[in-house]
Amino acid sequence: MAVRGKYLLNQFQKFKLINFINTHPLRHLNKNRTISSFVKTRSHTCGELREDHVGKSVVLCGWLQYKRFDQFILLRDWQGITQVLIPSEKQQELKPLISSLPLESVLQIKGTVEYRPTNQKNKKLPTGDIEVKLTDLQLLNSCRSQLPFQLKKFHEVKESLRMEYRYLDIRTEKMQHNLRLRSKMVMKMREFLCNKNGFVDVETPTLFRRTPGGAQEFIVPTHYPGKFYSLPQSPQQFKQLLMVGGIDRYFQIAKCYRDEGSKPDRQPEFTQVDIEMSFVDMEDVMSLTEQLLAAAWPDMKDKLSPPFPRLSFNKAMTLYGTDKPDVRFGFELKDVSSSLQNSGVHIFNNVFSFPDSSVQAIVVDQAAKYFTKKDLLSLQEFSQVEGSVSTNFCLIKVGEESRHWQSSISKYLQPQVKEHLCKQLSVKPSDLILLVGGQGHQPHLLLGKLRLQCANILESKGVKVRDPDTFQFLWIYNFPLFVPKEEVGKLEAAHHPFTAPLPEDLELLYTHPEKVKGQHYDLVLNGNEIGGGSIRIHSTEEQKFVLEKILKEDCSQLQHLLTALNSGCPPHGGIALGLDRLLAIICQEPSIRDVIAFPKSHDGKDLMSKAPAPISVEDQNYYYIQTKNKLP
Ligand code: ASP
Repeated sequence: MAVRGKYLLNQFQKFKLINFINTHPLRHLNKNRTISSFVKTRSHTCGELREDHVGKSVVLCGWLQYKRFDQFILLRDWQGITQVLIPSEKQQELKPLISSLPLESVLQIKGTVEYRPTNQKNKKLPTGDIEVKLTDLQLLNSCRSQLPFQLKKFHEVKESLRMEYRYLDIRTEKMQHNLRLRSKMVMKMREFLCNKNGFVDVETPTLFRRTPGGAQEFIVPTHYPGKFYSLPQSPQQFKQLLMVGGIDRYFQIAKCYRDEGSKPDRQPEFTQVDIEMSFVDMEDVMSLTEQLLAAAWPDMKDKLSPPFPRLSFNKAMTLYGTDKPDVRFGFELKDVSSSLQNSGVHIFNNVFSFPDSSVQAIVVDQAAKYFTKKDLLSLQEFSQVEGSVSTNFCLIKVGEESRHWQSSISKYLQPQVKEHLCKQLSVKPSDLILLVGGQGHQPHLLLGKLRLQCANILESKGVKVRDPDTFQFLWIYNFPLFVPKEEVGKLEAAHHPFTAPLPEDLELLYTHPEKVKGQHYDLVLNGNEIGGGSIRIHSTEEQKFVLEKILKEDCSQLQHLLTALNSGCPPHGGIALGLDRLLAIICQEPSIRDVIAFPKSHDGKDLMSKAPAPISVEDQNYYYIQTKNKLP
């Protein structure tokens, strides 16, 4: 139970506090923050007082960060830390309380702002020139004596423990920074969209029905026997329906739900900045998105300078082996088929007997110098796990002399083949060459992954490959509208089934749908897809054809949308930005969990409340559901 009371302080000796607190990193987020006039319980925040306040009576509230011989206490809130001096006449009386008071207890301090003695000023602390001489101390709530972890900077805490006690974790400087930055960015987005550009913020339902195609959805039982809601994977249909409704420019900070199992940087629920506009083309949506990001970009980062570069899907695959390339660094793919075809290099002999085959290469600068045997072996293993049965992989280690090559294919390499490769790849001493042969995009895909793997290994050895302070945005466009499904002969939507084909490919939709390109664009930041959108199909017939004839979906589930398209639907398009991922990149956090207040664990659980949790038999009966312990 919390101890409450009012205590007086007594006699103490002054001494210098060690400079253990660095400049508070949250200052840039709220420079002029003061306590609002409606608040009566405190006059200032703990990060606010300066020499100008000397002589003022103040009331501060916060958490007990630190105490020193019952003479000083450091009071903390999110904005900073203030040193409180317990005057000698109060020390005796307050000693029993202060010495027994656990850190993180919540206090209200009344006192007068004073200069610190010159030799006790702390230049590293924004409030370091002053201290508050205590006149009154209220214990608002004591903290239990043993918290599950300490709230200190650089104190490593297991993520599962942070999740279990998230309310404590949120008190840390890092989480305070990230959540406040998130709030600021969202505010600037609203300002840009709603106040400056006429967007309307509309909330759409989260109880909906199943959407054909796309991700696995969460279902919500109802008390109608055998009937379920689905949680929407995005407000896609609603935002299109809002266009039919004449909303014209829609925006929402929208919760989306996808039951995608455990993926390292995915959440079953996540947030999108969801946008839709009528009477626009791809250029309009891309340009609006660029301006939105530039307007919302944090002040402490270098300004963004749109327009962002663009790369077609094919070019991205050819150069980087992925549709979300990190273009902060090179190691670009090169087609070396012409050097290796009929070259007698045994592992690539078979490759060329298949149509649409090639050998692709990347050169990792200086890697032969840094990579150990173990690293090279790990690349071999990686290529086995990630490659397909028909891809062939090999490495060439270039010596300090660029003519010295060490590789399993060395003895098969004719001098002229080596020469040709050398020229094609501009090989330098100590480079590492990676070669992959295979069909279609397979060698590109594998090399794209190996390229990142090599960057990781180099960085683990202290070589700077990707600059964490650089934000490289990139648009990818000209995607195929459909991609082959695992089931042979079937197609699925590359983006979603509502994406319109490029106008010049419309005829192909009815003859060769696999060749159609879509009016679809993805936004990539430092190798992460942070957004995607498209111009939509606005004709009922075309939409019905795509759903029924190409994707073989049950159209009855989308009758409402088809009817709406036929009711005076304007041409429209939009985009959704993944807010969590965008913030994680800006905050340089490895996981989106670090920018979400109450995230799920990597396997989709809430470690704090232990959700998902069983429900009672009564509840099951109410919902007409029965649970099975095992799959049939
Ligand atoms: N609803 C789409 C998605 O979630 C984005 C869009 O097309 O606007 O990926």
